[in-house]
Amino acid sequence: MNRYRSEARSAHYRVSGRETEKHRKAGRRQKRKDKAVFYSVSFIIICLLVFICGFTCVDKYRSRQERTVERTGVKAFEESGAGKKTGTMQNGQADASAWNLRLVNASHPIPASYPIDITLLKNGQSVDSRIYRDLQDMMDAARNQGLSPLICSSYRTADKQKSLYEAKVSTCMGQGISRKEAEKQAAEWVAPPGTSEHELGLAVDIVAQSYQLLDKGQEETSEQKWLMKHCSEYGFILRYPTDKSEITGIGYEPWHYRYVGKEAAEEIMRRGICLEEYVQM
Ligand SMILES: [Zn+2]
Repeated sequence: MNRYRSEARSAHYRVSGRETEKHRKAGRRQKRKDKAVFYSVSFIIICLLVFICGFTCVDKYRSRQERTVERTGVKAFEESGAGKKTGTMQNGQADASAWNLRLVNASHPIPASYPIDITLLKNGQSVDSRIYRDLQDMMDAARNQGLSPLICSSYRTADKQKSLYEAKVSTCMGQGISRKEAEKQAAEWVAPPGTSEHELGLAVDIVAQSYQLLDKGQEETSEQKWLMKHCSEYGFILRYPTDKSEITGIGYEPWHYRYVGKEAAEEIMRRGICLEEYVQM
């Protein structure tokens, strides 16, 4: 009886031992599984954190850059005394001496000591600090319409204007005409130094990114169509319209915008006149 019991017990132990071993193996397998799940989840979380962190940092960097440009503009704007109101009409007459209505053309050169305070734009161009905000607003509004306007020329020093003019004269002379004749032809497209609005810092040449040629084809781009329709809302006019070359002395330039202030711009564009006609009213 005792022997039988003890055999039965040892058989029971053998069975239990095998089962315990099975359990241990299953446990180890489970642990390995748990570990694999733990490492996978940790890896995914770390990746997500790195991604979010990187994204936030880039975003912060970008907005810091934008704020820097914005602050520089505002600082220059305030220092230049541009808080002064823009000049418009007084008793039915345009205030031609106002900074925003200053007429510059072949017969109205820029004074030798014309003071200018410029603000640098993000793309390396620069403008008179007083027009920076309105220009920025106009560009932002155009971009919000899905357009891609590009400022390809803005403030120019007298030296820069001189080299552009001389290059144009040389091109014209290449057609076999005299220097005097070449100068006359060149002046229709590039103002001689001292007579370009670009030297005032109040003019910008804006083209469509998809079409950057300075020719009549510009007017067909969506960017120019939008700018011609809305520029006056931001104080700009299309300075050299197609039908005013005889008065302005400059050929049609559907890319050259000049800042004159919102009130004057609205009237000039609405009446289809040019700056010469406006200031001589
Ligand atoms: Zn221009």
